[in-house]
Amino acid sequence: ARMVKAKTVNWLKQVRYQAERLTGQRIRIGVTGLSGAGKTTFITSFINQLENHQRGLLARRPPFDRLESVRWQRDGVEQPFPYLSALAALAADPPRWPESTSDLSRVVIDLRFRPHGLLGKLQGSRTLHIEIIDYPGEWLLDLPLLGLDYGRWCEQLQGWLSQEPRRSLAGPLLERLTAIDPLAPVDAGLLAELTTEWTAFLHRCRADAGLSRNQPGRFLLPGQGVAAEMLQFVPLPAVNQHTQGESGSWWHQCSTRFDYYRDYVVKGFYDQHFSTLDRQILLVDMLTPMDAGQAALVDLKAALEAVLDSFRYGRNSLLERWFKPRIERLAVCASKVDQVAPSQQRAVQQCLEDLLTDSLSEVRHGGVEVKGFPLAAIRAARQEGDALVAALDGQSGGVRYQPGHIPEHLPLDLKVQGPELLRLRPPTGLHRNEPFAHYRMDDLIDWTLEGDG
Ligand code: GDP
Repeated sequence: ARMVKAKTVNWLKQVRYQAERLTGQRIRIGVTGLSGAGKTTFITSFINQLENHQRGLLARRPPFDRLESVRWQRDGVEQPFPYLSALAALAADPPRWPESTSDLSRVVIDLRFRPHGLLGKLQGSRTLHIEIIDYPGEWLLDLPLLGLDYGRWCEQLQGWLSQEPRRSLAGPLLERLTAIDPLAPVDAGLLAELTTEWTAFLHRCRADAGLSRNQPGRFLLPGQGVAAEMLQFVPLPAVNQHTQGESGSWWHQCSTRFDYYRDYVVKGFYDQHFSTLDRQILLVDMLTPMDAGQAALVDLKAALEAVLDSFRYGRNSLLERWFKPRIERLAVCASKVDQVAPSQQRAVQQCLEDLLTDSLSEVRHGGVEVKGFPLAAIRAARQEGDALVAALDGQSGGVRYQPGHIPEHLPLDLKVQGPELLRLRPPTGLHRNEPFAHYRMDDLIDWTLEGDG
């Protein structure tokens, strides 16, 4: 009965959202990107720019010149985005970057515009509700699981694990997994241990090799609402799509949990959240993998292609089987470009779009409007003469530096001699009631809300 009730409530919510959407009063914007892409900082700056619309770069551009009031909803929002603690970190002395996204969170902002023209006077003031949904891009990497069963997933991972750098990163874990007979009775303690090791392996893939396709995504960022024990399964190299084991076997246990993960965790996210988005902002930290080198770029490309699959609408796409997706606009943004010289910022964006040429045209082909923006949510470095000036994390005083080379285009073999990156600290003097110095946030906000002001 509780399930039925929850379903009805959900359904009513959907009906209300639909109605508001049809009258143009509500826009739901997804913000995603892989871990470290800059989502938390971006959303904090997004709210800050709107809250300070009268003084920032937004002040003079329509329709924001008619923006009368902005209200960030503090109460009654489920899983709220931690706006105040993010601000507190940025305004601390010395300033700190806010905590990164580790789960889904939400922001609701109400904008009230002054009416304009005769029609406007008749209609009175116009309110727009923006709902921003922040979620880890890693969750989208699980989309392909919707089309797999446990056996096929194991086959795919065998392929990945047979190549460098994953083979070395897996080390002895690979042998331990290979040694398991999938038809033998499962050892719950060993399974728990191997799951922990698999998770550690995924962390190494990300941290040591800059790899991005780390499955299952929730092992890295579980989010709330999933029982920890259901997240205990590992791929077994001895399993293929034809394997069948009895109840109580390794195969049966892992396969059952894989199915649960696919049908409730992954599909549940798509049904409940993803399918309600109107617009999507995808942030990409392009500079770190350019600095790390070819293998990191190769994996980033594969990961972003997998992420973009969720925005590829075609008759045969996995998503169409479950719902009619309706994201109408996608902004693809190279984030944190303040780390390089202003003259190089466009090139970073160009390299990102070069990396994704094919998948972006697929997304466009499916009817989504796509636009690219190089972005800095908060400018931590500024140009002085021919150098950049910034403060470094954990150090007092500033540094002057020359960012390394950024090519105009990404070479096809993805071999780049990347920039040298430093760990910058946020600038001092940030305050909620001052617009943060940024790069092109106003263009992005405008484009994202366009047509609804
Ligand atoms: P998330 O994991 O996607 O939520 O990413 P965060 O917003 O936590 O950002 C990750 C890190 O990137 C931060 O800790 C900062 O070091 C850096 N960062 C984020 N935004 C900016 C920016 O606008 N400029 C600069 N220079 N660094 C940023």
